[in-house]
Amino acid sequence: MPDSVQNASALTADESPTTDHRVFGPSQTPTHPLATAPVGTPPFSVDGFVREFLHELNTNQGVALSRSSINDQYLALASTVRNYLMARWLETGGKPQENQPKVVGYLSAEYLLGRQLGNALLATDLADIAEKGLALCGIDLATLRNQEVEPGLGNGGLGRLAACFIDSLATMNVLCIGYGIRYEYGIFRQTFVDGRQVEQPDTWLQLGSPWEFPHPEASVKVNFGGHTETFTDADGVEKSRWVPGWNVLAMPYNYMVPGYLNGRVNTLRLWSAQATNAFDLQIFNSGDYAQAVRAQTFAENISKVLYPEDSTPQGKELRLQQQYFFVAASLHDFINKELEEGFDLHRLSERIAFQLNDTHPVIAVPELMRILVDEKGYDWDEAWDITSRCFGYTCHTLLPEALEVWPTELLGRLLPRHLEIIYRINEEFLAQVRKQFPDDELRARRMSIIAELPERGVRMAYLATVAATKVNGVAELHSQLLRDKVLPDFSEMYPDKFTNVTNGVTPRRFVRLANPKLSTLITDTIGSGWVTQLERLKELEPYADDADFRAAFREAKQWNKTRLTTLLKARDGIELPEGHLLDVMVKRLHEYKRQSLKLLHIVSLYEQVISGKIAASDVTPRTVVFGAKAAPGYKLAKETIHLINKVAEKVNADERLEGRLKVAFPANYNVTLAEKLIPAADLSEQISLAGMEASGTGNMKFALNGALTIGTDDGANVEIRKLVGDKHFFLFGMNEPQVAELGAQGYIPGDYYEKNPNLKAAIDLILSGYFSPSDQHMFDQVIYSLLNTDRFMALADFDSYIAAQAKVEQHYADQDAWTRSAILNVARSGYFSSDRSMRDYIQRIWHTSPVL
Ligand SMILES: *Cc1c(COP(=O)(O)O)cnc(C)c1O
Repeated sequence: MPDSVQNASALTADESPTTDHRVFGPSQTPTHPLATAPVGTPPFSVDGFVREFLHELNTNQGVALSRSSINDQYLALASTVRNYLMARWLETGGKPQENQPKVVGYLSAEYLLGRQLGNALLATDLADIAEKGLALCGIDLATLRNQEVEPGLGNGGLGRLAACFIDSLATMNVLCIGYGIRYEYGIFRQTFVDGRQVEQPDTWLQLGSPWEFPHPEASVKVNFGGHTETFTDADGVEKSRWVPGWNVLAMPYNYMVPGYLNGRVNTLRLWSAQATNAFDLQIFNSGDYAQAVRAQTFAENISKVLYPEDSTPQGKELRLQQQYFFVAASLHDFINKELEEGFDLHRLSERIAFQLNDTHPVIAVPELMRILVDEKGYDWDEAWDITSRCFGYTCHTLLPEALEVWPTELLGRLLPRHLEIIYRINEEFLAQVRKQFPDDELRARRMSIIAELPERGVRMAYLATVAATKVNGVAELHSQLLRDKVLPDFSEMYPDKFTNVTNGVTPRRFVRLANPKLSTLITDTIGSGWVTQLERLKELEPYADDADFRAAFREAKQWNKTRLTTLLKARDGIELPEGHLLDVMVKRLHEYKRQSLKLLHIVSLYEQVISGKIAASDVTPRTVVFGAKAAPGYKLAKETIHLINKVAEKVNADERLEGRLKVAFPANYNVTLAEKLIPAADLSEQISLAGMEASGTGNMKFALNGALTIGTDDGANVEIRKLVGDKHFFLFGMNEPQVAELGAQGYIPGDYYEKNPNLKAAIDLILSGYFSPSDQHMFDQVIYSLLNTDRFMALADFDSYIAAQAKVEQHYADQDAWTRSAILNVARSGYFSSDRSMRDYIQRIWHTSPVL
């Protein structure tokens, strides 16, 4: 350690530089050099950085460098970067102004953010300075990066999409407040015990949370329960009002959302539940201390844990409490805190566009009506006129079981006034239906927001569709199926309401940060503009024919594979062999995604080798990597994980394969792992049954990192294939109309089993107990499902999948041809930037614009 640094480590607060840039607010003239530094210019030299870092270490962590832990160092580094962003945040995070474009209020129950440090360093261009400065202190930046526990406040694609969107809006200079829930426990940490998934709580806050700013003084009261009563107002009009039964406090935690090198910092506001004073005071006064503490716990339960359910809703009361909790706090926050006092709410839609990320926040519709009618005194029609201009609704599914329906019994108990309001919305809506389609009572019943069977419930998707200015699906195929199959009556009634916005992913995190070698190669070749204008990747196309470029591209891929090998060895004790085709299937475990189809491919290959049908030397050296969490209550999904792990055990240990087939299943797939896995992949598995995957975003991340896709004609795969070209994409399986036809005709899995001897042998091998010697029947459920009840027709696409895999192997055998295809995948996937998605939302739905 250099002397100067040794000395610096003893710096106290008094000796530290007087560069306190936390003192001025947006209304004051910024006098600090940081605030006026040109955009993208790092605020300090390496020396300046070291001083700031040590200052944070000494004063925030209260330790000298010589005694600091890695966690101390990580927290001090985070504070240093945060402080730089702070000046910008204070500047750009002010209240929306009369002359500013409208704000996007993104309402999402999930944000799957991933680690913050790397992104903040990138956005501020501080990575190099930090690396050098830390090196002077004898600290390795990479070690500190690894110290961060990612905030896993989402399940999968839907939550990650929200995170990509807020990144893009900040980068595009569009005002946005992301609203959500600060779960104390995010998505569970997955471990494997004897191959079975075991869930551990995600204690992401335990070692400190340097990226958030709690604002207890800005807490908002959220009411629940009680009843409604009618009364006559001063004008003699009979009205209804809510007499709540209990309430909790919603405390905001603000997170910075930095744009990429543009000086904009937007806000993500996540709400945490606290007991109100009134709540426990009453009980305290009654002398029941234990009961008072229980009350506290009860209130705080609301934001305690993320429901680990993906693509299936939880009909639980606590879940509805969570939804209303964050939505009520957010609407209150925007209307009463963000808008200037006395703002005319008739013009609310000029100031904000609320986007409903799936049905989870749809209770915002009756909540806004309640605020306008009950609190602000508007009459119903005025209130509806305002409300129906403020919301856009994004639907994320085609699975009927994934559409939320809240029992009226539950909704009425928890939110009695909201249920009344929903009934009234429905009444007026159905009157309109009957007017537009007279003598069609069946239609009115079909379209009712209130379902009667199997129990009386509120169809949240219908409520959202009725209220929203626009309803969008998330890929072209999905939006079309949404119109034709999920909401046909609504698309007939409101043809102009329906639109598509194909999903995207942020190139900052998923290319620039995750794939530094490829990023450097791209920037060296076409300049750095691609990071914010991803369509410019097109300029790489000619280089697909350039042997030197291909060699450099392969080198980057190899570097990523080596990095992954090192990581998986240390993280999971997994050994990845060298020189294999890296075949990756990472996503939530779900029947519709068909991990079992991938598994049957592996078992079939294996079975053919051990039974001598093919020689091991004929197998293309391949490593299959799975990553997937199963919802804890989803038995079949968990059994599938168990089976994959058991197959991996056998396959990896069997010398008859001569090391040419390996299966790896690192536990706890999350954003951090995705960032390492995806850049290393050669082949991307996107094999859902056509018509089931709304879009997928994993598919986009892979294509952008130069993996070729083997995929069905589903979700955004359709658009990826169209753009990259059929020659560079391995299509297989039924398309959606064929699926529908087979469904109508009756899918008989046994026929496929009987007809394909390789498939039969693979299934029989599993049934024989080969992979579960201790219990022959261990995997009967998984197999029974595939052979009998599988709604997702895995066996019907098996032949076609195997044929496509043969084409993969053929193509991979010609490394030049493969690399050419990989480069073209990158060059032609610029469309899948979430910046483009945001432009589409802005034009088609929000009608806002960047601030200058
Ligand atoms: C992108 C992403 C997803 C979504 O993957 P799909 O293949 O689109 O389902 C899920 N989880 C994580 C951690 C991701 O980064």
